[in-house]
Amino acid sequence: MKITIVAGARPNFIKIAPIIKAIQKKQSVNNKLSFRLVHTGQHYDKNLSDTFFEELNIPHPNSNLEVKSGSQAQQTAAIMVAFEQELIENPCDLVLVVGDVNSTMACAIVAKKMNLKVTHVEAGIRSGDMTMPEEINRIVTDSITDYFFTTSTWAGENLMKYGAEASNIHFVGNVMIDTLYQNLDRISAPNFWNEFQLEKGNYIILTLHRPSNVDEEHSLIDLLKGIDKMVGDKKVIFPIHPRTKAILGEQKLELKNILMVDPQGYLNFMFLIKNSFAVITDSGGISEETTVLGIPCFTLRTTTERPETITIGTNNLIGISIENLEKVFGEFLQNGPRKAGIPELWDGKASERIIDILLSKK
Ligand code: UDP
Repeated sequence: MKITIVAGARPNFIKIAPIIKAIQKKQSVNNKLSFRLVHTGQHYDKNLSDTFFEELNIPHPNSNLEVKSGSQAQQTAAIMVAFEQELIENPCDLVLVVGDVNSTMACAIVAKKMNLKVTHVEAGIRSGDMTMPEEINRIVTDSITDYFFTTSTWAGENLMKYGAEASNIHFVGNVMIDTLYQNLDRISAPNFWNEFQLEKGNYIILTLHRPSNVDEEHSLIDLLKGIDKMVGDKKVIFPIHPRTKAILGEQKLELKNILMVDPQGYLNFMFLIKNSFAVITDSGGISEETTVLGIPCFTLRTTTERPETITIGTNNLIGISIENLEKVFGEFLQNGPRKAGIPELWDGKASERIIDILLSKK
């Protein structure tokens, strides 16, 4: 079986790393299994791409489509044109896409139109918010996927509502958590740890990159000022995403507690998360990681496609409201963290299950 694996953006790299490891492990007993890794070039900044390949030992991509930035349509179209050529030159049996970025959707469409089997890892999750480009990517990708791998039974139910056949839906767990477990003993403090006098539990991690939070400069600044005031004597480490940085430009904000740093590599970032007091974020992946690490998470969004991080895990859905953040954060300070657990099958073995199931398909 020849598998073409697609990855385009930071969260994709974290998700493909354990899948590739699982394939490599199987290759020692199955010489008919091979893979080709295609990087679409959607994220090309070293901090969002190369660092993850190096730290997570992901093989150098066989091909880089180098699409870079553009509008939604420009980027999707550029990926489709380049990926079609890639598949013509390098035929395969199956294309595996992960997550919900433009590369996921664009490559799934191209593969399906070339009559290849499409496999979607992290299928079936839904926020219900059609203003998110990711939601459109999820729906389109799942509408043409052959084999669905899910992180929850709820995701499988969503897929069946859209007409997917139960026999093609496989609840396997969470590949992002595979990566977390595989690297927990390698995580390390960033070089600013001593400089900022960070200690376990004396700081908060903040990440913001969703258009709904960062594209409007004034609301972004108000949000940052509100968080800066709310946290009392806690420092806030804010690894700033290039999209967010571009909006803030060079202006100096008068923030007492928030310390802006570059986007962190995976090993430093997970060390920071694991040792933090709490996390404030608009990321989906981070709400999964904090759930497994038992770190309280406050999500600045109105919806989530990962409800189990709230019902089972440590996540709190705040909305985009500093007032509500202050309220819920205040309750947390008063009552302490609530009791939380780890969702079913988030055990570090999802990737191996995926490869075993794919091999049983042929
Ligand atoms: N991440 C990282 N360094 C950072 C910020 C994030 O390594 O400075 C990792 C983290 O593991 C997270 C993943 O990148 O789960 C994806 O984060 P992002 O918020 O970009 O994507 P989303 O999960 O919202 O799609």
